Amino acid sequence: MGSVPHAFLRFDALGKTYDEVHAVRDVSLDIARGEFVALVGASGSGKSTLLKCINRLVEPSSGRVLLDGQDVLDGPPAPLRRRIGYVFQGIGLFPHMRVAENITLTARLEGERLPDKRIAELLELVELDPAMAKRLPAELSGGQRQRVGVARALAGDSHLLLMDEPFGALDPITRGQLGERVRRLHDELDLTTVMVTHDMAEALLLATRVLVMDAGRIVADETPAALLAGEGGDIAQALVDVPRAQARQLAGIGK
Ligand code: ADP
Repeated sequence: MGSVPHAFLRFDALGKTYDEVHAVRDVSLDIARGEFVALVGASGSGKSTLLKCINRLVEPSSGRVLLDGQDVLDGPPAPLRRRIGYVFQGIGLFPHMRVAENITLTARLEGERLPDKRIAELLELVELDPAMAKRLPAELSGGQRQRVGVARALAGDSHLLLMDEPFGALDPITRGQLGERVRRLHDELDLTTVMVTHDMAEALLLATRVLVMDAGRIVADETPAALLAGEGGDIAQALVDVPRAQARQLAGIGK
């Protein structure tokens, strides 16, 4: 009798309540290795809270998160966070630290230092000039800073990448370029990626699976193709209608 393979990432009846607010309610789902999952939904629907339960930036009120079969609450948080790449909402770089030090920070949780060669390699992965290692965040553009944020998330050699509105502060062109780069990195580095975004167009473009949240619950779990074909229910379709209307407008039809 063979054993049932465990999911790479499993949410098991997960709940999180802040005071009176039920931010996440009874979420159960499995994410397999290699998936690029977008978590979409209105502001306040619980996306960020669900994401942060994975690396323990938020402690769940009920239920469990299992990573590779192991409860993330087993053991101290530092080694867990080192195994998980995390791109913060906004920029999230320390302004007084140079790019190299900001990237090293992930590794330093374990008291290690990253060699210059590795920093250069990480900067090249996000298509930045390795000479930028010596710059301060204020000496970079918004897009370059966000690329450093992605490089930092990859520094721990993690195969799980979590991103919380990673491109939110960027203009549409930079946003598109960086999104595309992250999608290629996801494929090239064999990552499993979970990205929070309020932008359905971005989710449809980058993800292999789209989870729609509403009031703390997952109300749709579909592929981009299924969502575009009208699946997923009213809330999902209301979100899909936005890029659809934009596309129609661009094509000069739908009037
Ligand atoms: P989203 O990422 O979809 O915008 P969040 O997970 O940030 O949603 O928030 C879900 C709900 O939980 C919201 O009502 C929000 O106000 C509340 N919330 C989030 N973080 C906290 C917190 N640290 N303390 C109290 N309430 C919070």
